[in-house]
Amino acid sequence: MKAILIGAPGAGKGTQAAILKNEHRLRHVASGDLLRAAVAADTSLGRQAKLYMERGELVPDHIVIGMILERLRTTVSDSGVIFDGFPRTLEQARALEQALAPTGQGIDTVLYVDVPQEVLFERLTQRYQCTECGTIYNWGINPPEQEGLCDRCGGGLYQRMDDNERTVARRLQAYFNQTLPLIRHYEATGQLQRIDGNQPITTVTAAILAALERARQAKEQLRS
Ligand code: AMP
Repeated sequence: MKAILIGAPGAGKGTQAAILKNEHRLRHVASGDLLRAAVAADTSLGRQAKLYMERGELVPDHIVIGMILERLRTTVSDSGVIFDGFPRTLEQARALEQALAPTGQGIDTVLYVDVPQEVLFERLTQRYQCTECGTIYNWGINPPEQEGLCDRCGGGLYQRMDDNERTVARRLQAYFNQTLPLIRHYEATGQLQRIDGNQPITTVTAAILAALERARQAKEQLRS
């Protein structure tokens, strides 16, 4: 099963991806995590990407596409994967389709976690993440039991460099300009399943699992 998770910054993709990975053992490739790791390791790719990330802009397609395709080649097996945050543009979608074509295993479904724009800004500027296990908290609606410490593993919490108000506004703008055409594309191909992301975390997880199951059944039916 190959699925793409699409959603605006703050839609809860990261939270849901961590649950799917930790509790449902689904493999997960997140372009934002790969880019942040490259920045932290101060690689040449990381140095190029950092400038765009700090400004809240999308990193240019050629940098991101190269990074993800390399990851696909080296670590992603046929057993399945959820792409999180990639593709974000039509060009990235085409590159992914071309890369998967020779394997005969295309994208099975695209899950769009839909959250109203006014909710996104508030969520992002109140968000904290665990340095150890990646669990995400929100000091308004989902705070940790002990301030500054992760409930799951006791790791320290930090605020991402791009979750300040100015950068958040730019990131939302970039998303609505560049990613909405992608959503229309997957709507037209019939691959898009819309998930209401403005619900409690567990309800959203259940909706995602149900959508993945529908896609799995549709794939089985095509095979038989
Ligand atoms: P995320 O963790 O998915 O919110 O991504 C954080 C930042 O990484 C974004 O604001 C972009 O600057 C960059 N980024 C992540 N994924 C992509 C992508 N597929 N294309 C371009 N830039 C990306």
